[in-house]
Amino acid sequence: METLNKNDKDFLLNSIRTVEDFPKPGISFKDITTLLGNSKAYTLLMNHLYNRYKDQDIDYIAGIESRGFIFGASLATMLGIKFVPIRKPGKLPYTTISEKYSLEYGVDEVEVHIDAFKCEKENPNVLLIDDLIATGGTAKAAVTLINKAGANCKEACFVINLKFLNGDKEIKKITSVYSVLEVN
Ligand code: AMP
Repeated sequence: METLNKNDKDFLLNSIRTVEDFPKPGISFKDITTLLGNSKAYTLLMNHLYNRYKDQDIDYIAGIESRGFIFGASLATMLGIKFVPIRKPGKLPYTTISEKYSLEYGVDEVEVHIDAFKCEKENPNVLLIDDLIATGGTAKAAVTLINKAGANCKEACFVINLKFLNGDKEIKKITSVYSVLEVN
């Protein structure tokens, strides 16, 4: 499957702004709004993802709230396939199933509509997408949720992987992982 060359990776990385100490001291926040506002960078990224996934028999794109919606919905439109939002608790109006995961302090949860992956195909293939993987807790819960909802999470895709946090290692135990960019 297609990956990006070093020049294109550098160009994309430079289109993302880093904001220090947001939302709290010590966090280097990767601000993808500057990538979205750079049409050359956004087009390069989306064309790359389209080329990578166009022949992979993907039936659905699932995007994690909220920045995963932007890349996921764009890609689903390009591929001509369905988009499913994976949301924080209490946001989806119909019957949901959910998956809890641990945070540094406390727990959080992701939800999906119970019929989100219902189609003519049994066990349809899903590509999960989010902007960034940090500890991997959110994405791991989302992969588990997709599989619980009767689908097969074929790959989890991230624009940025904060490699030093090793979040991808846990997810690789349950699905394939692809990160467009890695930050060490
Ligand atoms: P995690 O569950 O720790 O992998 O956190 C992933 C989620 O938190 C993603 O949806 C990201 O959008 C967000 N996130 C975590 N750390 C950062 C960061 N340094 N910069 C931007 N977003 C982040």
